[in-house]
Amino acid sequence: MEFHTQELEDVVIVGAGIAGLATAVALKRVGVRSVVLERSDELRTTGAALSLFPNAWIALEALGVAQKLTDMYRPFKRGYVTNLVNGSVQEMSFNSVLDEWNANGARTVHRKALLETLAGELPSDAIHYSTKLSFIETRTQGDSSMSILHVEDGSIIKAKVLIGCDGIHSPVASWLGLSEPVHSGRFAVRGLAVMPQGHGLNNEVHQFLHNGSRAGVTHLTDTEAYWFITYPSTFSDEEEMRAGDPKMLQRKVLEKLANFPPMLLEYVQQSDLTTLSWAPLMLRLPWDLLFKNLSKGNVTVAGDALHPMTPDLGQGGCSALEDAVILARHIGTYYLKHKNIVPIEMTEAVKLYVKERRWRAMALITGSYLSGRVQQGGSKWMMNFIRDKLFYRFLLRRMADFINFDCGKLPCVNPSKEVDDEHNKIE
Ligand SMILES: Cc1cc2nc3c(=O)[nH]c(=O)nc-3n(C[C@H](O)[C@H](O)[C@H](O)COP(=O)(O)OP(=O)(O)OC[C@H]3O[C@@H](n4cnc5c(N)ncnc54)[C@H](O)[C@@H]3O)c2cc1C
Repeated sequence: MEFHTQELEDVVIVGAGIAGLATAVALKRVGVRSVVLERSDELRTTGAALSLFPNAWIALEALGVAQKLTDMYRPFKRGYVTNLVNGSVQEMSFNSVLDEWNANGARTVHRKALLETLAGELPSDAIHYSTKLSFIETRTQGDSSMSILHVEDGSIIKAKVLIGCDGIHSPVASWLGLSEPVHSGRFAVRGLAVMPQGHGLNNEVHQFLHNGSRAGVTHLTDTEAYWFITYPSTFSDEEEMRAGDPKMLQRKVLEKLANFPPMLLEYVQQSDLTTLSWAPLMLRLPWDLLFKNLSKGNVTVAGDALHPMTPDLGQGGCSALEDAVILARHIGTYYLKHKNIVPIEMTEAVKLYVKERRWRAMALITGSYLSGRVQQGGSKWMMNFIRDKLFYRFLLRRMADFINFDCGKLPCVNPSKEVDDEHNKIE
């Protein structure tokens, strides 16, 4: 569907990734219509799969889609982290780390299934593919502001609220004045192994550490396993990988896994080559979250556009789902008063969202980075001591607080139910 010049929308979301689709679904559940602009011509499923922890499942419950996914994927029960340099093995029972009441636990899901499940909740005309935001202007009328979005094809869209869910190099985040994310010094390659005879993983996650690299594998379905490797390198060494030829990526990963157990190499060898992807691991400097504007008027950001982080706690996508619920809760609470998007109230809603997310986003970026540093810090005895004696035994359990976070529910569109003002939640 094409936009006619100067069309006015209540809410425009830029980006149809996890954050953008989840935000559109959350808004729909509070009665607010939004349109999603996506520069690609279809949903982007780069990265093949991702792990979703209890905080994500709580958010997916609020979005009304958790069960569609839990019917398809089993939770993992146990994890093993083997330090290949000193032979130590840390065993983690996920039942002890995850809140018992959260029956959904932690599960790895296909990205495609997650995105399609979210997109399936939206009206057929909600997502506008091949629609790339070029630049933003704002217009202020009295007390309220409005965004004027210029699309690459020349069309113009006016929005009462603009939400940038446009990923790590977000144009909306740069418009807000946030700096570009920085490189962590590490890269990742991920893929899916397809094993019709079964993968033998028994609902377990196996990770291995070797001199600054971390590689692991977990089950996805009965015949598919998801594997990953993260490793230190420089951009110049990665030139060839960046081109993304899958056969070459597979060969390079096998070279990097030379000192890893043969079972891991077997998963990489049995990969569906179309699922392989390479990525530099980037993060937003945590103090940017504290000192810079995360909103201006009725414009804000969510997901990687707000908090790009290294994947060491598996929290980027999970926290994008939290963002969606919390932002829609604030917008919905105001919307439900008049059944109308009142621009001046939206400025308040956006401010409340930023206030609620700022510290958590900063903590997640920092926690993920430190977790990566400790786990992959190399072979020095001090690092080994911190990792094996402190991190896995004590600190990781503290970090469990991160993944058990409860983002709450959405206000109910049913007027017979009352909004709990104190928590802005409906029971
Ligand atoms: C190696 C690795 C492993 C990971 N593992 C996990 C994990 O196990 N669990 C987890 O929760 N997270 C994980 N993550 C993080 C997770 O992948 C991201 O946090 C998540 O995908 C972010 O979603 P998003 O919607 O914010 O951004 P994106 O998925 O990047 O979506 C942004 C969308 O915006 C579109 N867009 C960009 N610019 C424009 C424009 N100008 N106009 C229109 N559209 C635009 C893009 O095309 C894209 O579709 C991992 C990340 C990596 C790199």
